[in-house]
Amino acid sequence: MFKKILVANRGEIALRIQRACRELGVKAVMVYSEADREAKYVKLAEEAVCIGPPPSPQSYLNMPAIISAAEVTDAEAIHPGYGFLSENADFAERVEKSGFQFIGPTPDNIRTMGDKVSAKQAMIKAGVPCVPGSEGELPDDPVIIRRTAKAVGYPVIIKAAGGGGGRGMRVVHTEAALINAVQMTKAEAGAAFGNPAVYMEKFLQNPRHIEIQILADKHRNAVYLGERDCSMQRRHQKVIEEAPAPGIPRKLIEKIGERCVAACKKIGYRGAGTFEFLYENGEFYFIEMNTRVQVEHPVTELISGVDIVKTQIMVAAGEKLPFAQRDIVLRGHAIECRVNAEDPYKFVPSPGRITMWHAPGGPGVRVDSHVYTNYFVPPNYDSMIGKIIVHGDTREQALARMRTALLETVVEGINTNIPLHRELMVDAKFMDGGTNIHYLEEWLSHHKR
Ligand code: ADP
Repeated sequence: MFKKILVANRGEIALRIQRACRELGVKAVMVYSEADREAKYVKLAEEAVCIGPPPSPQSYLNMPAIISAAEVTDAEAIHPGYGFLSENADFAERVEKSGFQFIGPTPDNIRTMGDKVSAKQAMIKAGVPCVPGSEGELPDDPVIIRRTAKAVGYPVIIKAAGGGGGRGMRVVHTEAALINAVQMTKAEAGAAFGNPAVYMEKFLQNPRHIEIQILADKHRNAVYLGERDCSMQRRHQKVIEEAPAPGIPRKLIEKIGERCVAACKKIGYRGAGTFEFLYENGEFYFIEMNTRVQVEHPVTELISGVDIVKTQIMVAAGEKLPFAQRDIVLRGHAIECRVNAEDPYKFVPSPGRITMWHAPGGPGVRVDSHVYTNYFVPPNYDSMIGKIIVHGDTREQALARMRTALLETVVEGINTNIPLHRELMVDAKFMDGGTNIHYLEEWLSHHKR
């Protein structure tokens, strides 16, 4: 096991990794930008290094600053968390070339999966079902683009090969709008992701977003830890996640889970990863793979009893997975609400000083958050300030626990989306389970304030 690792991230995930390190008896070096000097995990750290000014390009995305922080503190490995440099193959490569272990998959695997076109091609090869669409990147020729769309069938969605975070996608309903939409998406993708390549998929009308969590070691062992339902989205971004996915037959989950495990073994995958699928009419369609820990990993931890972050660190150190597929037993139901510093209905970010923070508690309640009373939410980063996660024997019990937890939560001084979560937890359709990816947007359009 490592003696010391460097945590190359901020916010709740930095704290989550620090906690895993403490449990493992591994020293954690925290890095911070000048905007995060007051973070508790920085103050409570055994070692912390300032890596630059608030803007992330100069701090959390600053590769030389992060690598030299690891050098000066004698860390052996670097945990990238999620976002920032976590899916940057060049970073993973530089980390390893500098003599540190990157806590994640190989740079090659990150590169293949980071490009959604090559990821889909790899998955087709590995026998994972994908959304029907263009064979790879769309060419410039409008005749071929039109022919492809006709063959796929309208509506289609144009997606950036290098896209992420719900950006770089455009739905097209008619041939008249097609070429313009492709050109616009290309231009945006070039500017936002430095890669203008786009591809086409059939736009599924009423799918659910279902994803499979996997863990793999360096000895070609891999397991899946069941699924998560992340269909409650706004602007293609997840708001509420749960596990298991209501109403999907276990046999179907097992089948797709085994496919994902086989794909991991085939590509020599190591670490934590998520296969994201759209699910419609009893079929799964792969959309992308995330080669890192995800925001919503706690729901899986609560139903499986597996500590995903600790396991990431253990397998990066070369240890074998401490369990086989038959040891994975899923129990009960878990729900996560992402707490964002934003107006609950207009979604305008609301950074600033938190004058009062009171976190919920009680049986089956977990709060992953780095904030506290008097903490200043910096305007420079993502608006998520934490996550409330609950576990119950049944989905009904989990819902009841989430309602209580949300009722107990007090955040003053800034706006949060907790009022929205409170309403959704008593919404009849959400309570039934199995809502599709459009449900939340539709709900919001009917509940305008
Ligand atoms: P990102 O990497 O930006 O998260 P994804 O490919 O994972 O992009 O897609 C994010 C979300 O966009 C999905 O969860 C789904 O809501 C929607 N989406 C993506 N592809 C399709 C599709 N072919 N049909 C319908 N919705 C889609």
